[in-house]
Amino acid sequence: MKVLVIDDDPVSRLILRRTLERGGFEVLEASDGLERWELFQRHSEEIRLAVVDWVMPGIDGVELCRRVRSSASEQYVYVVLLSAKQEKRDIVTGLEAGADDYIGKPFEPAELISRMKVGLRIIALEQRLKELATTDPLTKVLNRRAIIERLREELHRAGREDEAVGVILLDIDHFKAVNDRYGHLEGDRVLAETAERLRGGLRKYDALGRYGGEEFLVVIPQPKGHTVEVAERLRCQIAATPYRLNKEPLALTISLGATEVQLPPFQGTDQGTEALLEEVLKRADAALYEAKEGGRNQVVFRGFAP
Ligand code: GH3
Ligand code: MG
Ligand code: MG
Repeated sequence: MKVLVIDDDPVSRLILRRTLERGGFEVLEASDGLERWELFQRHSEEIRLAVVDWVMPGIDGVELCRRVRSSASEQYVYVVLLSAKQEKRDIVTGLEAGADDYIGKPFEPAELISRMKVGLRIIALEQRLKELATTDPLTKVLNRRAIIERLREELHRAGREDEAVGVILLDIDHFKAVNDRYGHLEGDRVLAETAERLRGGLRKYDALGRYGGEEFLVVIPQPKGHTVEVAERLRCQIAATPYRLNKEPLALTISLGATEVQLPPFQGTDQGTEALLEEVLKRADAALYEAKEGGRNQVVFRGFAP
């Protein structure tokens, strides 16, 4: 686990590094000026723990805590504030600014390590909660709220970077018959396997979520005109091999509605994104409806440039 150590004093940094490394942590260091804040932002994905000195020139530890808490970082960063200030009211100021813990200088190595381990527990808990809140329990893919949030983020990003986003809405054909014939439990197994097969047909960066009962939504960042091909691949992932239910092979198909939005820079406003989000989903849904009407087991593509 990586820890970001932010201290303007090189000796203090060295001691912190040694202590933390002995405790099994990997250390990233920052010292002067805005470096520490920039490092934080650049590594925001991997940094989950930070030890921050209070007194520093420029942005001090307390200000840094405030910035970390007000930044839109996806992940929770556990911040331990380090300072020679030991007054009760200093501790309160540090914690109020967003620090998770406070250690006086000079610190006891064993105490620092065990406090960092508290941080690890909190982070693991936060991770677990986040997974629970964003995962569909049956299919283990993103739940409806999380996949819509992903689409929102991608549209926002695409708006800023003059990029496109591919969206596929798909639905299992005649799924009700599976439940009727084999029971709800087997139906659930089919849903789980469907999600697995779909995942197998996607790249790592593509997002897959359960949109509704037997409907899934796929979000493709930077599709480069390949959304239809992806949809076709997903169709084959399902249609090519029968499912095995109670050892009885069951041929299933899906219908897919695909769209690709090429965005002109719309300055990525929240309002613009919300309207677009609704429009994209409407397009994909209309395309899916056409695929069903057209006889199922097919892809219908309806592109649009807002
Ligand atoms: P179509 O080809 O038009 O999509 O037909 P369909 O039968 O798939 O569509 P319909 O919307 O009529 O039926 C969807 C079925 O999906 C009905 C519902 O009971 C079932 N379903 C929804 N969620 C779940 C679930 O979590 N588990 C199981 N086993 N079935 C589910
Ligand atoms: Mg269906
Ligand atoms: Mg349906």
